[in-house]
Amino acid sequence: MLVTVLGFYGGYPYDGIGTSGYLLQADGKKMLIDCGSGVLNALSNYMKPTDLDAVVLSHYHHDHTADVGVLQYEWLAAKKEDPLPIYGHTQDFVNYSQLTVENATQGIAYNDYEPIEIGSLKFEFLRTVHPVPAYAMRITDKDGKVLVYTADTTYFDGLVDFAKGADLLIADTNFPEDVTGRKAHLNTKEAGTLAKEANVKRLMISHLPQTVDAETMLKQSQKYAEEVPVVNAFQGLEINI
Ligand SMILES: [Zn+2]
Ligand SMILES: [Zn+2]
Repeated sequence: MLVTVLGFYGGYPYDGIGTSGYLLQADGKKMLIDCGSGVLNALSNYMKPTDLDAVVLSHYHHDHTADVGVLQYEWLAAKKEDPLPIYGHTQDFVNYSQLTVENATQGIAYNDYEPIEIGSLKFEFLRTVHPVPAYAMRITDKDGKVLVYTADTTYFDGLVDFAKGADLLIADTNFPEDVTGRKAHLNTKEAGTLAKEANVKRLMISHLPQTVDAETMLKQSQKYAEEVPVVNAFQGLEINI
């Protein structure tokens, strides 16, 4: 599996860089994991968006879905024979129903009690703790390599088991360690601790804040991740798993 970061800011784009979106390539299949603001533009540096095989959305906050509408227009304009599958949860039916646009895209439901296959990849989902329903993803390829994406979430016990032994963990790290208490995202201490407790091989901190420099976020996360190597998401970062 090859992961390419197309956007990594939480909430809103900043300084020419978009919000959450990752290009995932495996066995010739190309898919987007989340499709935030600016992601379609970034994607076009690598491939034609009409050559995507699938889109998988963690939840329907705008910083993860802002470019879905324009992607649908691009598919509509391309007049392709088969629609683009867009996978989403059904806990918000209004947003789910908008994944389907005739002659362009087809919404497909996932849930957290049965895995699905997209190409040669197995996707498992776990409902996170966030102000709206959101799902973390555990993606396993045919060689047994594992990518775990926390989606948006605050810290909860089930995350450690879900991320166990992942080759790469992409964690929503929206806050520095001094932001504590009730919140919708992980801070650097929680992201680093999660990586250590789950014994992952590598941590990518993402969904980063615009107001704290990446080096500080990285340093803090690395302190708590201990032996697990940590990298901060940046535009164009590619990780081969
Ligand atoms: Zn978000
Ligand atoms: Zn969110």
